[in-house]
Amino acid sequence: MKMQALQAKVKINNPQITQITQIFLILGFLLIGCGEETVAPPTPIQDEPIPAIFATPTLIVSPTAVSPNTAAPTATAPADGLSIGDPYAPELGNTGYDAQHYTLQMTLDPAITHIEATVQIEGIVTQPNLAALSFDLVGFDIADVLLNGEPVSFAYENDKLILFPAQPLPENSQFVVSVAYAGAPVERPSPYVGFAASLGMSFVNGESIYVLSEPDGSRYWFPNNDHPRDKATYRFEITVPAGLTAVANGLLIEQIDSETTSTFVWEHDFLMASYLATVVVGNFERVEERSPDGVLLRHYVTEEAMAEFETAVADVGEAIDWMSDRFGPYPYEAFGFVTADVSSVSLETQTMVLLANNMIGQRTVMHELAHMWFGNWVSLDSWQQMWRNEGFATYVQLMWETGDDPEDLQLVIESFRSAVEENGDDFPLGNPPPAQLFSFNTYFGGAVFVHELRQEMGDEAFFSGLQTYFATYGGGTASDDQFREMMEAAHGAPLDDFFAEWLE
Ligand SMILES: [Zn+2]
Repeated sequence: MKMQALQAKVKINNPQITQITQIFLILGFLLIGCGEETVAPPTPIQDEPIPAIFATPTLIVSPTAVSPNTAAPTATAPADGLSIGDPYAPELGNTGYDAQHYTLQMTLDPAITHIEATVQIEGIVTQPNLAALSFDLVGFDIADVLLNGEPVSFAYENDKLILFPAQPLPENSQFVVSVAYAGAPVERPSPYVGFAASLGMSFVNGESIYVLSEPDGSRYWFPNNDHPRDKATYRFEITVPAGLTAVANGLLIEQIDSETTSTFVWEHDFLMASYLATVVVGNFERVEERSPDGVLLRHYVTEEAMAEFETAVADVGEAIDWMSDRFGPYPYEAFGFVTADVSSVSLETQTMVLLANNMIGQRTVMHELAHMWFGNWVSLDSWQQMWRNEGFATYVQLMWETGDDPEDLQLVIESFRSAVEENGDDFPLGNPPPAQLFSFNTYFGGAVFVHELRQEMGDEAFFSGLQTYFATYGGGTASDDQFREMMEAAHGAPLDDFFAEWLE
């Protein structure tokens, strides 16, 4: 993710680097009053009794339409199964199964703030005798829930849709859940994001639709296992009024036109975290090309943004190949951007980056491209470790910007270091308060740490460690410890004290 800059407090001491640093500050990252504007972080209580819904099955609702309570939840520790186990975000995700594939069938019209959808989730049971199957979902009228084609009892409580199979599901069995739902998306501030009023799907001026889900926003537009620890492949069948285009992740497989509507079918056959799934609707022109090494580039751009966009992406093919040489092959079947009327934030939605109309520029382009490796191909095991996503994306952007010239890089890093010190974020890089997850320190402090790690290891070991990290964890997730172990193996010496000094 990347936010439009406020005035950053970086002192520029060297005239050589003034220009590049100024550009960074004008177009660069952050920081939108991270403290004042954010909502209070959740305060999980660890010893709450198991919700009644689990203890007393008589509370189960019948499989008929319900209107979930959409008020902000009270903070409680989730019951068994109702968390994927990230201590930083215990309200997110679910256990007992592994989601394999999502099919999102949606009818959308920018003129009507309303989602009409059927979402099919294919998964595998990962524990013996699974009595309840839960998904993250906020809001909507749920019309119908099917398990393996049959109606199933379900309940909705604390942003979880919970299914109760007639018989417990055996371990390793496959299941298909289908959820039909409709309604206007709930608008509620995320405890992790202070710069957006709400996350999920937004309808803009009756003209366009975009999605912003990091970190906990995908549950505001489709039922899913909302944590990067459970990745899946995707198919999107998005129906929009004739004349509009629906864009999603992966490849456009088919477009089916009727007199009044068009259905766009997209498929992404690579594992993807829920927050990176996207649907954007608008009036776009498709721009298609290939990187010098042959990676398919396809962009969806509004006519007004086209000239600026073409300048911003002029080097993106070259940059894909440049990053591939350093971190390992570009992981996916395609790459590109979709421009959107979203204010001052861009997001690295997998293979199809959401690019804010007021942030079109080479720096945003390079930052989001770097995320295809850092965050997307290897995702965070815990949201607490956000420095690894944003520190690397910021640093790789800087490497590109300076042509990886050691002197220039060092000068910019020094200005980042002073800025971090003067900004005075009073928390460890490895454990930001939830409201500060996307803070100055996460981006700039993270980039300084990455640079110091590179200095400590030397280039050969640093890049070799990163390549092994991507080869080992690509398509999945890794923790800070797993990352450190990969770098230690390349370094041939322990780095635990070094990491502790920076992260704790
Ligand atoms: Zn980012």
